Amino acid sequence: MSVATKQLVIILLGAPGAGKGTHAGPLSEKLKLPHISTGNLFREHISADSPLGKLAKICMNAGNLVPDELVFNMLFDRVAKPDCERGYILDGFPRTVAQAKVLDRAVQPIALYFSVPDEILIERMTNRLTCPKCNKPYSKSDSCCDVCLVPLIQRADDREEVVRRRLEVYHTQTQPVIDYYAKKNLIPILATGTREEIFQTVLKACQDKG
Ligand code: ADP
Ligand code: ZN
Repeated sequence: MSVATKQLVIILLGAPGAGKGTHAGPLSEKLKLPHISTGNLFREHISADSPLGKLAKICMNAGNLVPDELVFNMLFDRVAKPDCERGYILDGFPRTVAQAKVLDRAVQPIALYFSVPDEILIERMTNRLTCPKCNKPYSKSDSCCDVCLVPLIQRADDREEVVRRRLEVYHTQTQPVIDYYAKKNLIPILATGTREEIFQTVLKACQDKG
């Protein structure tokens, strides 16, 4: 990971389904920084049937985290690419305190925290569809990705029993990451309200700090 001081690194924290993936795309366009989702990187490996993809698939379909070492290697390769020179937006990383500590050794991220109650999260995730090509999330009433023009699918890990397990993993392993950044510089985003209202709050928080 680069140690350049001018890098703007934004991390999106919050439970699965809290809206990280929804706002990361538009934020990436607006700030002209790449959106790096570790979940999407793993899904690319799964599609390519790579050795990493095979391992990640077992963890993901059970609702568990992929072991830290596998996440680090994949992420370090990605952030070493030239498009990350000015900075990047991380979605789905860090998910453990060990991951947060490794990240903090290299950069000083702006941490945004999307907070949403569990009941809403379960409802949102079990009712959402995803583009199998670009991973953009959609609602059940949509049928095709407006960018890739392919039919939407339900992610294997968006089935209700897996969603419940993911939330459990979130509370035990990722909640401590929120507490870790709360002691530093966490920016809470009240993730209720319209998509546009939330996005404006997110944008303002990044521009104030960036
Ligand atoms: P969501 O935020 O909706 O859970 P993601 O696409 O971010 O979806 O993650 C899907 C799955 O990918 C996770 O449940 C986990 O198995 C794996 N994963 C993604 N990022 C990480 C990470 N930083 N550390 C460990 N596992 C990860
Ligand atoms: Zn798409």
